[in-house]
Amino acid sequence: MAAAQAAAAAAVADVEAALREADKAAKKQKVCAASSAQAINKMLQAVGKARQQLLAAPAAPPQAVLQELHAELAAADVARAMTADTKDLHGAVSKLGKVIAEHLFHEGLFEIGQVFVEEAGVEEGEALKRPYASMHTVLQEVQRHNLAPALEWVREHEAALRGPGGEPCAFEFSIHRLAFLSLLKEQGQAAAMAYARQHFARFQATQMAAIQKLMGALCFSRRAAAGRPSPYADLLAEDLWGNLARDFVRQCCVLLGQAQDSPLLVTVAAGAAALPTLLKLATVISDQPVADLAGAAEQLPVEIPLGQEFIFHSVFACPVSRDQSTRDNPPMLLPCGHCICKASIYKIAKAANRSFKCPYCPAECTPRDCQELVVPDME
Ligand SMILES: [Zn+2]
Repeated sequence: MAAAQAAAAAAVADVEAALREADKAAKKQKVCAASSAQAINKMLQAVGKARQQLLAAPAAPPQAVLQELHAELAAADVARAMTADTKDLHGAVSKLGKVIAEHLFHEGLFEIGQVFVEEAGVEEGEALKRPYASMHTVLQEVQRHNLAPALEWVREHEAALRGPGGEPCAFEFSIHRLAFLSLLKEQGQAAAMAYARQHFARFQATQMAAIQKLMGALCFSRRAAAGRPSPYADLLAEDLWGNLARDFVRQCCVLLGQAQDSPLLVTVAAGAAALPTLLKLATVISDQPVADLAGAAEQLPVEIPLGQEFIFHSVFACPVSRDQSTRDNPPMLLPCGHCICKASIYKIAKAANRSFKCPYCPAECTPRDCQELVVPDME
């Protein structure tokens, strides 16, 4: 449970890191474009002024005007102003590159990832690739129904995989369970029994219920083979290998401190889920002047529910200010039972001991009467 929570927390951190980097890159790009435009404007102004001067006095020798133009262009130092900003932009973009490279390796697209790392000049590409490379080697063998590399991987990471009380790792038992069930299916009772004798003893303390179920399946296997109903039919009908492969990826990612799904994948999936609403929104607001939409870049004018799988931790959005709560601006419970964020309370009440009316009911109280709400999994 703790591992799953840690993975979920890592997923959130990754998505947020990716968003922050993308945001930074976009901001840098804006700054860079603005200052480039400014530098070019300066240049155009200087040239325009020189042209005016030349046109105003066609008979005068042009040297003086040209000299002044040269001096002005040198002072503006357009080239340096532009390269300094571009360097900043490059820094931001290269961090984004790391996120993309990690995504490609995470998905097992090593050839594409390698080309990307080289072309985008992503630093430490090799170090990014290594853990995912070993993960995908084991995964490929699992897909070929070879469990030896997965067991080898478990032995290598045994210390990290053990439970909090030092009990053997549950994932190792899943591997043995799969081996047992596939032996039972393919080679029959005797082979499965021999495997159970050799491997299940270590898991008696932690997996007794599961072992009992497997023994039940063993007893009923002849019945099932003869086409008669078995209460354990569901065990053999499972997508055993697919489940184990998914379980293995999850275990690997927990050890790597990474989310099971690549942050980029989650971001793109969330974007795709939100797309129909965004398209509808675009047709509704396309008639409005652009100035009204300036705020839309920061915050969408509608809420888009993405579904349970995109919810990583609880959030509180203040119903008054619409701001998401932070550590400095936590949600506060008013004595009447309504809840708004701290900043909104002080904005309405203006002082800690001044009474104010709840925005949602007629009850009055002072900020001192309000209690901070603590939600355990909120950032
Ligand atoms: Zn109230």
